[in-house]
Amino acid sequence: GTPTALMVGSGIGAEKGILIRNGEAIQTLKDVKAIAFDKTGTITKGKPEVTDIVLVGEVKQQELLYYAGTIEKASEHPLAFAIVERAKTENIDLGDVKDFNAEFGKGVTGVVEGNKIIIGNRKLMEDNLVDYMGYEDQLISLEEEAKTAMLISKGKQLLGIIAVADPIKEDSTNAIAQLEKMGIKTAMITGDNKRTAEAIGKKVGISHVIPEVLPDGKVAEIVKLQGTFGLVAMVGDGINDAPALKQANVGIAIGTGTDIAIEAADVTLVRGELRGIISAIKLSAATFRKIK
Ligand code: ADP
Ligand code: MG
Repeated sequence: GTPTALMVGSGIGAEKGILIRNGEAIQTLKDVKAIAFDKTGTITKGKPEVTDIVLVGEVKQQELLYYAGTIEKASEHPLAFAIVERAKTENIDLGDVKDFNAEFGKGVTGVVEGNKIIIGNRKLMEDNLVDYMGYEDQLISLEEEAKTAMLISKGKQLLGIIAVADPIKEDSTNAIAQLEKMGIKTAMITGDNKRTAEAIGKKVGISHVIPEVLPDGKVAEIVKLQGTFGLVAMVGDGINDAPALKQANVGIAIGTGTDIAIEAADVTLVRGELRGIISAIKLSAATFRKIK
């Protein structure tokens, strides 16, 4: 009967590093029409590194990294870790930040030695009336290289740009190609800007890139995909992916991600490799063939 087959299926899953918390999910998986992926930490390693530093006028690299690192020390974002790491590598002693504030989907601000420092995307600069227009071409070319470019200002003066790249996981491209071959549509949902998101999407062969989504906008994007495709699975690793994992017909967490995502999910890929999804779908089809 069903329970035995499910147990067998789950046992094989565990061997392959797929943990199934919800038996219904494994039944649904074989019928999924589209899979949405979070970008950072799911398709990419979630370990961005600084690749480019652009200095405005007479600004010194030490100065830029001092202000940026001092603010980002207070942030939990992977982008922040990349900047702090680079400052450490250059032996810069970071200062203290006052009035630290994280702006949803835009960046961070704070006061260092009486100076208001802002780090983030174009929107955050526009909100704070910082002029970056002379650097638009440089931003575009960094983004076309699949990098995330952050603008840094002190007062209303632009100090520079720090760009990071987050390496794509070794098996992401292969896993996405296999899914598309199986007739399953793939989508990537990210807060990152359109140009960077599209460059990464193109590298890994994702068919639908959904950029500039605020953390609380992921659920609405899953609902839209369900309207278009029917049964949808979502794969994510972050705290802010949890509601979308619940909304999806099957929620799949990356085992190396946050506990909150794992608790919200039906299935966990213990090793964090996307190819686990293919194994899980095949397991789903094989298990339910046995039952019938
Ligand atoms: P994601 O999880 O896809 O990176 P977020 O919503 O967290 O999306 O961030 C969206 C954008 O906001 C980032 O691409 C970046 O431009 C900016 N941003 C967010 N947090 C920070 C930060 N700590 N420092 C600089 N920029 C940030
Ligand atoms: Mg993530």
